[in-house]
Amino acid sequence: MENMAAQPRRKSQVVDVGGVKVGGGHPIVVQSMTNTDTADVAATVNQVMALARAGSELVRVTVNTDQAAAAVAKIVDRLDRSGVRVPIVGDFHYNGHLLLKKYPDCARALAKYRINPGNVNIGRAHDDNFRSMIEAAVEYSKPVRIGVNWGSLDQALLARMMDRNAQSAAPLEPAAVMMEAIVASAVESAQAAGRYGLDAGRVVLSAKMSGVQDLVAVYRMLAARSDCALHLGLTEAGLGSKGIVATTAALAILLQEGIGDTIRASLTPMPGGDRTEEVLVCQQILQSLGLRSFSPQVIACPGCGRTTSTFFQEMADRIQTHLREKMPAWRDVYPGVEEMKVAVMGCIVNGPGESKHSNIGISLPGTFEEPVAPVYADGRLFRTLRGERIVAEFIEILEAYVERRYGSHQA
Ligand code: SF4
Repeated sequence: MENMAAQPRRKSQVVDVGGVKVGGGHPIVVQSMTNTDTADVAATVNQVMALARAGSELVRVTVNTDQAAAAVAKIVDRLDRSGVRVPIVGDFHYNGHLLLKKYPDCARALAKYRINPGNVNIGRAHDDNFRSMIEAAVEYSKPVRIGVNWGSLDQALLARMMDRNAQSAAPLEPAAVMMEAIVASAVESAQAAGRYGLDAGRVVLSAKMSGVQDLVAVYRMLAARSDCALHLGLTEAGLGSKGIVATTAALAILLQEGIGDTIRASLTPMPGGDRTEEVLVCQQILQSLGLRSFSPQVIACPGCGRTTSTFFQEMADRIQTHLREKMPAWRDVYPGVEEMKVAVMGCIVNGPGESKHSNIGISLPGTFEEPVAPVYADGRLFRTLRGERIVAEFIEILEAYVERRYGSHQA
């Protein structure tokens, strides 16, 4: 898809994460994280499979205990035997240096280690624990993500920077010092990793905040001060529409500026909710910005007093569902179908116009309009539907269009 508006991508190092290329202008990678107990191999495998099926290109799992570390190789093996090749990233806090040493199978099976510099050396005057994790990455030829999080920022570093700021002639506001500390923690940790043998081509950086404006400010600084690939995410984004909107607002600004090589939406699932929602949100952000294409887009008007029946909403929903269900099979046989636009419009005010600008579209009859539904394909009136079978007939026309337009014998 042609990208007309986003600024050129920031130049960053390319990092190979289990065969998935992150950074250096490669397509922005969608990732996700499980919320199962990693020690529960079956539950974790099932969730990773669901996330991968939804389109997650990297999946992170918590590695917090001996049991979790012992389970990792079994999880990767079981995924492999099921044909699911998504790289698995290990999320370590506090004890990663111990677990990577004690469980070499875990260190080998993971495609990347996430290190939080704020909690790997807590209470220590030196960075031996961080160094151990980097040495494990060097030994097993793995990349790392140095993931600073403002909720677990290195307090010793922050205190040092606050002291220095207090003594300066023109002290900054405490919030500005904290942002500086977050960026410094990420950049200095990457430099330390370099000293311990891991070059910048094996390091992804992140500096997650929970406030949209703070996140944007921190990533702009990070992008200016490092050429490492960047992982974007609004941490603790929250529940439901709040989490989705806040994540979208933050990531869209940065992506539009060319900042970001891989993204995650840290949504809190609703009770009983579907974990794969975070994958779909990331895909939709990238597709809405014209940065990547994942599935055909339905352009539906919001409806208004001119189309008062629920028929229009039901039709838009049926078509959207149909496209989503078909996409796994279509992806392989109809290359390019993920860029298709399908208009489903409620009346003739904007219906024919929007349909003409889409690959294929239908306008339903609004209240008091003649009960006919014109279908447009490639900008031209293709057929006019009427009667009870409008939806079924439109789906048949849509199927034939996909075959004709994206099939191997396309013109
Ligand atoms: S296309 Fe028609 S039904 Fe849809 S919002 Fe516009 S005027 Fe209303």
